[in-house]
Amino acid sequence: MILKDARQRVVNYLRISVTDRCNLRCLYCSAQNQEFIPHPEILRYEELLEIITLACGLSIGKVRFTGGEPFARKGFPEFVAEVLARFPDLDLRVTTNATLIGPHLAFLRERGLKRLNISLDTLDPAKFTRITGRELFPEVWANIQSALDLGFRVKINAVAMKGVNDDELGAFLDLARARPLDVRFIEFMPMGGSDWSPESVWTAGEILEQARGLAELTPLPRLGADQGPARVYAITGGLGRFGLISPLTDHFCGTCNRLRLTADGHLRTCLFSDKVYRLKGILRHPRLGAEHVRRVMLLANERKPLGHDILEKRARGRGVCGTPMSAIGG
Ligand code: SAM
Repeated sequence: MILKDARQRVVNYLRISVTDRCNLRCLYCSAQNQEFIPHPEILRYEELLEIITLACGLSIGKVRFTGGEPFARKGFPEFVAEVLARFPDLDLRVTTNATLIGPHLAFLRERGLKRLNISLDTLDPAKFTRITGRELFPEVWANIQSALDLGFRVKINAVAMKGVNDDELGAFLDLARARPLDVRFIEFMPMGGSDWSPESVWTAGEILEQARGLAELTPLPRLGADQGPARVYAITGGLGRFGLISPLTDHFCGTCNRLRLTADGHLRTCLFSDKVYRLKGILRHPRLGAEHVRRVMLLANERKPLGHDILEKRARGRGVCGTPMSAIGG
């Protein structure tokens, strides 16, 4: 069965947050005084396997593990290996801040993980500390290099923030020139708990205009595994590529193909909506279980909204969604 919503969007991508905890405190992401989900409320790995099984039965072909920081959860590398072994046809990816992944890189590569998205908003170690609250830039930098050496396909995601990293476009383009990786800027979204303001938004249009002054960029078609919200450009003379993700100024709701599962088992059909479907209670209920979870997934999907409408309605407000990214899963 294929998951199609009421607007005929085919939904084939599930992002799973395995924890809401993170070892960084990024200023655009963590709510101050965020209350973490108590451990018993977090979906156990066996429960996640059940949900992935259901998702695959609904033609979900791509799963991304995210968080919080996935590697902050005990047993995560072994869990990834288990998912790879059980679902060999699944396109499995991981999003990480790359601070803790170092000791697990070779193991994960050997078990068949191919793709990593690494969040890195600055190439300046001192600024990294200011953004994240932790002095871990050298670890991230070394782990990016190791990931490339091991043959991972690496995408670096930077949140584009005026007054924070808008002076580093040249340095990021140089990185994408010098290494076989994608550097992508994502527009800063007004999520719960972030220090977002309209003035802090550095739009994809502005970035592209500046980037064109610094590099020769050729737009690439969105094909195969590259299909997604990013507009991707080849850099003449470069090993890597450059990309822009514009959830604010050029929303991609019409082609949104994703569902999100939070660490406590809430299904979200739109990043900009606080509407959740509580799968955990159903999964753990002695008389309900997997078949009911499947039905709720189908129902939730049918009701998947156009988030852009929500964004417009709240355009003047500070938050589009009351929950910080770290709790939803970025
Ligand atoms: N800890 C992992 C990491 O750092 O990649 C995964 C979770 S983190 C929430 C994933 C990513 O979500 C962030 O690095 C950032 O790219 C994105 N993100 C978080 N808050 C955002 C915001 N307000 N606007 C745009 N992107 C945001």
